Amino acid sequence: MAKTYEFVEHTHDVVVVGAGGAGLRATLGMAEQGLRTACITKVFPTRSHTVAAQGGIAASLKNMTPDCWEWHMYDTVKGSDWLGDTDAMEYLAREAPKAVYELEHYGVPFSRTEDGRIYQRPFGGHMQNYGDGPPVQRTCAAADRTGHAILHTLYGQSLRNNAEFYIEYFALDLIMSEDGVCQGVIAWNLDDGTIHRFTAKMVVLATGGYGRAYFSATSAHTCTGDGGGMVARAGLPLQDMEFVQFHPTGIYGSGCLITEGARGEGGYLVNSEGERFMERYAPSAKDLASRDVVSRCMTMEIREGRGVGKNKDHIFLHLDHLDPAMLAERLPGISESAKIFAGVDVTKEPIPVLPTVHYNMGGIPTNYWGEVLNADGANPNRIQPGLMAVGEAGCASVHGANRLGSNSLIDLVVFGRAAAIRAAEVVDPKTPVPAPNEASCEKIMDRFDRLRHANGSIATADLRDKMQRTMQEDAAVFRTQESLEQGCKRMSSIWGEMKDLKVSDRSMIWNSDLVETLELENLMANAITTVYGAEARKESRGAHAREDYKDGPLGGRNDDDWRKHTLSWVSESGEVKLDYRPVVLDPLTKHEDGGIDPKKIAPKARVY
Ligand SMILES: Cc1cc2nc3c(=O)[nH]c(=O)nc-3n(C[C@H](O)[C@H](O)[C@H](O)COP(=O)(O)OP(=O)(O)OC[C@H]3O[C@@H](n4cnc5c(N)ncnc54)[C@H](O)[C@@H]3O)c2cc1C
Repeated sequence: MAKTYEFVEHTHDVVVVGAGGAGLRATLGMAEQGLRTACITKVFPTRSHTVAAQGGIAASLKNMTPDCWEWHMYDTVKGSDWLGDTDAMEYLAREAPKAVYELEHYGVPFSRTEDGRIYQRPFGGHMQNYGDGPPVQRTCAAADRTGHAILHTLYGQSLRNNAEFYIEYFALDLIMSEDGVCQGVIAWNLDDGTIHRFTAKMVVLATGGYGRAYFSATSAHTCTGDGGGMVARAGLPLQDMEFVQFHPTGIYGSGCLITEGARGEGGYLVNSEGERFMERYAPSAKDLASRDVVSRCMTMEIREGRGVGKNKDHIFLHLDHLDPAMLAERLPGISESAKIFAGVDVTKEPIPVLPTVHYNMGGIPTNYWGEVLNADGANPNRIQPGLMAVGEAGCASVHGANRLGSNSLIDLVVFGRAAAIRAAEVVDPKTPVPAPNEASCEKIMDRFDRLRHANGSIATADLRDKMQRTMQEDAAVFRTQESLEQGCKRMSSIWGEMKDLKVSDRSMIWNSDLVETLELENLMANAITTVYGAEARKESRGAHAREDYKDGPLGGRNDDDWRKHTLSWVSESGEVKLDYRPVVLDPLTKHEDGGIDPKKIAPKARVY
């Protein structure tokens, strides 16, 4: 190992990487249970992407319309296009109300109804009566700043419970023992250049999504799939990476998000003919059909020449027919975003919008306790000792092929909490923390040193741009065999070019050039598995819409051959290996013991 690096040593029961909603909920839970917990984060906790979540958090509180956990579960199953794991989806829907009340008691300032209960708004794909409708009001909101409110509350509560924070530390890689147990992480303190070795009995990855693998995304520039990169380098699989959600309403140009809550409050989309076209595609749910459906319809309108604007390349979202007082109260944040990023006064003009990359359904495979699975076809449920993953970085899998709006925030807190419950069972605070595998640590620092001194001919920003444009062009809203094959070829060649990267800053203090290079390597592991997984999946399901598979009663979905999770590994040289594991079909609770009627969630065509 390059001799220049010395470790500052830390030992904990649990190390959580990430301080977004998932990381903070896990940190808080672990600390509450008396586990010595460290939380490492590359940005200040309340700057994590969760802070940008607008619309709200789903739970069947029935404050404003009839509702029950079974309807929420049904909507989630259908939203997932029958790719979600049934046990995890039941756990999510059942635990959701408890998790929201817990947030309320921790201090989240939810918006209120007249009689003081938590305000709930309609959201895409959330319906009453097992999908028959009308729309249900299930999404609990703090105006349009719900993520902000949750994040600040959870950070305060974590501090109150004495969790230790390591802020602006960049986690490099997982320390793995010779026999494959995760023993901790090595992190770089961006502020003073020191290298820290955190050994622990459990590591929890809560590093968020990888939206920035694409050119236009609603997510923060820090959403670079670092957890997925670390897992891939540890030789572990990623799951269902081909499923990437496009949100229907990114602001045209900047990609900034206009929450689905805007349509929940009565907003609607129109084409150049002034037609509310969603009525034609989704007669029942209309503008509140699920996201993949609305994004595809918008793309079709544009392709068929009915886009708006000079180049007929986007769509209008109208809020100008709504009561200005309501807009000011319920949607103040997006009114401001529309003004800043589109120059539009929402009370008077429509907002120009376009489908934009928003969420990664795929990620690190886990069970519903957050335990990472070192799965393959022969061992579909094998648990990886010492490692958990929660939040957008993980894949439990509750969102399957397509996530419903407001189901991510609830996923963060339900599974962040579940991971803490499980960790309290498997981590013994009385046993010593095992000594880390020096060979593994050496490998981590060798890679770091190699990138720090990379002296090739391509700047990180240029290669990143190439990757982002490739993903945007070849693995977008609509996909074909041709576009995906081209995407695989181009991504493999970009992978090869990583050998030729040039980092021009060699310092250890606030070296943003090196940070972006580490992030690019992480993005690449996520991006290449996304496009290879997509090429291999010969069907249309949820967000994975292939123009060459769109016929048949299920619209191109093929349950006989493809109702299974993709597992993908990527080697150092960029070879991608794929395997599959079955979808979990059994719910947690049998129907006769109070579980959902299995007939209700049997696969059928997905129409809204
Ligand atoms: C604009 C926008 C609006 C949204 N609105 C909603 C909504 O209304 N409802 C809903 O349900 N969902 C919404 N979503 C989705 C949801 O907000 C995200 O999926 C969720 O917040 C992700 O949370 P997380 O805790 O997994 O990760 P994040 O909040 O992204 O946090 C990741 C954390 O990991 C840390 N980290 C990452 N890499 C490293 C590293 N190498 N070393 C150290 N630390 C690291 C970061 O510092 C950060 O603390 C929205 C998403 C966006 C982008």
